[in-house]
Amino acid sequence: MEYDMLLLRFGEITLKGRNRSRFEQVIHNHVKALMHKFPRAQVIKEYGRIFIAINGEPLEPMIAAMKNVFGVTSMSPIKVVPSRLEDILQTGVDFIKELGPAPGTKFKVTARRIWKAFPHSSHEMNKLVSTPILNANPELKVDVHHPEVDLRVEIREQGTYLFCEVIPGAGGFPLGSNGKAMLLLSGGIDSPVAGWSALRRGLEIECVHFHSYPFTSKKAEQKVIDLAQVLARYSGFIKLHLVPFTEIQTKLAQTGQDNLIITMMRRAMLRIATKLAERNGALALVTGDSLGQVASQTLSSMNAIGRVTNLQILRPLVMTDKVDIIALAQQIGTYDLSILPYEDCCTLFVPKSPATNPNLRVLENVERSLTDLDEMIDKAVEDTETIFIRPGRTIKRRENTEDNVVQESWF
Ligand code: ATP
Ligand code: MG
Repeated sequence: MEYDMLLLRFGEITLKGRNRSRFEQVIHNHVKALMHKFPRAQVIKEYGRIFIAINGEPLEPMIAAMKNVFGVTSMSPIKVVPSRLEDILQTGVDFIKELGPAPGTKFKVTARRIWKAFPHSSHEMNKLVSTPILNANPELKVDVHHPEVDLRVEIREQGTYLFCEVIPGAGGFPLGSNGKAMLLLSGGIDSPVAGWSALRRGLEIECVHFHSYPFTSKKAEQKVIDLAQVLARYSGFIKLHLVPFTEIQTKLAQTGQDNLIITMMRRAMLRIATKLAERNGALALVTGDSLGQVASQTLSSMNAIGRVTNLQILRPLVMTDKVDIIALAQQIGTYDLSILPYEDCCTLFVPKSPATNPNLRVLENVERSLTDLDEMIDKAVEDTETIFIRPGRTIKRRENTEDNVVQESWF
């Protein structure tokens, strides 16, 4: 079908007033940023929705790109005709002909007269548009309650829009409209999905990853960079902090408290992440924890771990089943990377029986006995390397100059 425009709706943003227009502006910017792939297309903003004049650009890739725009609840490819009765009726017939519904398809027309000067009411238009369609397709069955094809006809002064497809969008809140959080990004399945969920809720995210180089390989690091690249497809830009964790991890291992080591590692991670969050203006931490999934994610463990920070810890997946997390990971495009078998810093020291109910007092005593732990944590923060990531594999390391930006591309 030759469509003229793609209509984007943001129905679920129920906020009123200034917030609403700010949110709409964020979506508009996001859509426009994606348009470099479709140079002939034109973005038209209206109250409560956005139209993209397709102008001969390929529709399927455009729809795929728009499915990444948070805050867009649904979209429809539409045909546009002048608001004259004979044009509308003819286009209705052509539309259904091109659609080619199977015999017996349940059908209805839903007309909306938004331009009140148009001489026929919405109700009259339902009849007027459906009559020639039914004459041309006598095998269609009218069903106003459960139609399989619902031909929508919106009559406006500047033109009439016809469409019947409603494609779900990403939903959620517009990018970055709810502030910033620091995502603890491992190389696993869960944390990238948690990051995507945070983005979808309108949080801007920065990522922090703890590595134990040279015990963990450069391949493991590259995997995390690649995961952040996927998240950058949704956010346009991601800052990734790579924290050297080897010394701290070795120190914690030397305590001989085998069953507490994972808990202590997580506590150290959260303390470092908190410092990085404060430096970068992030007001919360995000993790991929899912209740009961492993020893460090029992209620008791999460409690013992979470005590080291005053920041909110957001755990978007806390109540989500693994199968559902995996399905989401596949959908957002992180799964295949996540299952690559490179070691994570935590897998290096997996104890035989990690504590599921760690004793907070014991933990604090052991940590207090490590007199230089605080210093090591500060040092890890200082030695953190920050990478700037855009989709299209653009990477810039902090210590390098602007010249090292390989390729600029926004989304
Ligand atoms: P994931 O798939 O996210 O790795 P997991 O089931 O393997 O989850 P854990 O290894 O217990 O869970 O980690 C719990 C959470 O702690 C992770 O979701 C992540 O947010 C954080 N985390 C764990 N390891 C690291 C790391 N090396 N760097 C950054 N964050 C980490
Ligand atoms: Mg993990």
